[in-house]
Amino acid sequence: MAVKRTPFIAGNWKMNLDHLQSIAFVQKLAWSLADARHDFADAEVAVFPPCTDLRSVQTLVAADSLPIGYGAQDLSAYDSGAYTGEISGAFLSQLGCGYVIIGHSERRTLHGETDADVNAKIKAAHRHGLVPVVCVGETAENLEAHGPSAVPVAQLRAALEGIDGSKGLVVAYEPVWAIGSGQAATPAQAEQVAVALRGLLAELVGDEVAQATRVLYGGSVKAANIASFLREPNVDGALVGGASLDIDEFSSIIRFKK
Ligand code: PGA
Repeated sequence: MAVKRTPFIAGNWKMNLDHLQSIAFVQKLAWSLADARHDFADAEVAVFPPCTDLRSVQTLVAADSLPIGYGAQDLSAYDSGAYTGEISGAFLSQLGCGYVIIGHSERRTLHGETDADVNAKIKAAHRHGLVPVVCVGETAENLEAHGPSAVPVAQLRAALEGIDGSKGLVVAYEPVWAIGSGQAATPAQAEQVAVALRGLLAELVGDEVAQATRVLYGGSVKAANIASFLREPNVDGALVGGASLDIDEFSSIIRFKK
């Protein structure tokens, strides 16, 4: 039986918007969502601000019971101790985060994160009740050499070693060549990889969890192309970078019509 997965639109702010700007942005987003309630009622929306914004976002979301989820862009594999500069999943959970992005390609390339780090961070997220948004994706060279699915599938296999799938998970397929380039994958490419990733999930965590897990596409998603991705049966939403910083663009993405 086909499982209905709620579309998930996630805004990865990266290192943009300070805590004051985050308040203004989330307020505007909430107004826009209230306006569009009948349009977006079926989608779940979450923002991923810098850590320094999370307390402000929490206060705003909690005070007005806003229908906006939020999470962090990274977390430590450790829970506490002498890890200067690291942020524990316990702290994120206390700030009401529901999600945490793990293994974004910018963390992998700029900070040397390995598949083993990603695996340890997913386990840390689960220890603290956070749902990891696990990012996988191939570079242009990988694509040329191995096609679109091989590297994302290998990354996800390594990421999920020893993971309890019942603790929740979102997978984001983000081809590195599509991130911030303005050149998105085609919906057919995204679907092909999403099918391969879901197949792997079925093997690793069982068919029931695989069918319930949302697989997002990310990389140059905009209002103009979101519907084409969401028409694909195995693409369940988007991880949006640049376009999530523009309130009108992000609101239009959320109001996608298939
Ligand atoms: P982009 O970034 O939408 O700006 O391409 C996506 C991401 O890095 O998550």
